[in-house]
Amino acid sequence: MDYLDLPLLELHKALVNKEVTPFDLAKEALNRAHRDENNAFEYLCDEEALSFAKTLTEPEEDNVLWGIPYFAKDNFSTKDIPTCASSDILSGYVPVYDATVIELLRDKKAVLLGKTTLDELAMGGTGMTGHLGITYNPFDPSKERMVGGSSCGSAASVAASIVPFALGSDTGDSVRKPASLAGLVGFKPTWGRISRYGLFPFAPSLDHVAYFSRDVISSALILDVLAGRDEKDATSSFVPVEKYEENIGKPIKGMKVGIIKEVYDSLSNQATKKHFDSAIEALKNSGVEIKEISLGHDLMESLYATYFVISCAEATSNNANLDGIKFGPYRAGNSYEEVMNKARTQGFSELIKRRFVIGSYCLMKENQDELFLRAQKNRAKIVDEVNKALKEVDFLIAMAAPGIAPKFTQKSDKLSREYLIADNHLCIGNFAGLPSITIPLYLENDMPVGINFTGRAFEEKELFQIAAALEKETGLAGLSAKNKKEGNL
Ligand code: GLN
Repeated sequence: MDYLDLPLLELHKALVNKEVTPFDLAKEALNRAHRDENNAFEYLCDEEALSFAKTLTEPEEDNVLWGIPYFAKDNFSTKDIPTCASSDILSGYVPVYDATVIELLRDKKAVLLGKTTLDELAMGGTGMTGHLGITYNPFDPSKERMVGGSSCGSAASVAASIVPFALGSDTGDSVRKPASLAGLVGFKPTWGRISRYGLFPFAPSLDHVAYFSRDVISSALILDVLAGRDEKDATSSFVPVEKYEENIGKPIKGMKVGIIKEVYDSLSNQATKKHFDSAIEALKNSGVEIKEISLGHDLMESLYATYFVISCAEATSNNANLDGIKFGPYRAGNSYEEVMNKARTQGFSELIKRRFVIGSYCLMKENQDELFLRAQKNRAKIVDEVNKALKEVDFLIAMAAPGIAPKFTQKSDKLSREYLIADNHLCIGNFAGLPSITIPLYLENDMPVGINFTGRAFEEKELFQIAAALEKETGLAGLSAKNKKEGNL
């Protein structure tokens, strides 16, 4: 029996029935991880994981995460376990404390097996810019196609059936986009719903803890554990938590879903449109009311630029502490400036330097009004429009990506409508801090493509309800690179 291929709930049953032990699971998952050819891991902690798993002998029936192995993206602080966010500037850095989510998962006796690769410091969306090089898409044995990023290693580890879930972070789309390219469920909650204490900040007004799983119910069950107020994160919310799986399976009749017109119109692939249309038909047949929502073409075309200015500006100031002294390797010099200069010149890749140059430029006194403040105002406009739309409908729906994972060699026209809108609209959920979920919709040439729902703040329960209803129609729950299925839609 291949237990690691099972969905979370079935794996839980097997653990409770003592068909398999947490130790066996951790060992098998680590074996798979060591044999992995997708370059998904920064660090595997065999010793810590196995000795912890060994202590788990009495199954806890009402705790679905008991003994479940998982990985965390390498931008979560993990006590005594090296954490470098796939950046040379942090090579060898060993945190002295755990991120709150890591602590919560340990309390539930989930077993952390190691840390996954990312686009350096979580900036980027290709899975190609971490300091260990390219992370590959397990769905593509020829290794020509991206898994996407920035949470590339976490996506690859779940898609390759090494673990049933993995933590990532989502600032613009870094979980929900790779989920589309790797056939996974990728979820980010409302801003403030999950504590970010111990998550390396990239752009805190946009950053969310997020994660991958292979079905919707797992995603809801994991939120039960991670959601809640945390005294260590002042931005975490006091809104009471819920049983997030409670509505799954209940009828969705009468719910209202809005198709984002501009995303649909900007898709060039007819197959993508056809499958999207089938998803809409399926929702209609379940009694969902469908509306077309226009957020405005100009506003939609401005998403990417707005995201870029705000995220680069925040990233520049939040990463100013990476000066080569407080963390990571020390490169000797005669002055603070020289030490810092060497550390940042040698420690960051081109992409990061470029973003810091853009960020600094936007924050310069003489440019602030024209660039940074203008982007902030535009963000407010976007948020207004989206919240207005969510008064008319309960959810927004759109393709999570315009098609299957692109090839590494593929060049995208960054000024095309498809790129600006269909490829980059998921940041709406970050701008407005709304819960958002991607699920697999169909496969083309054995490569998956996902669809995304975004809901109102703190309505995660309803979001899981509708996502699970559509998942049932697609027949793609439990999809993985080893278990490629034909979808129904
Ligand atoms: N791809 C986006 C970027 O390049 C999003 C990154 C993220 O969500 N961490 O910044």
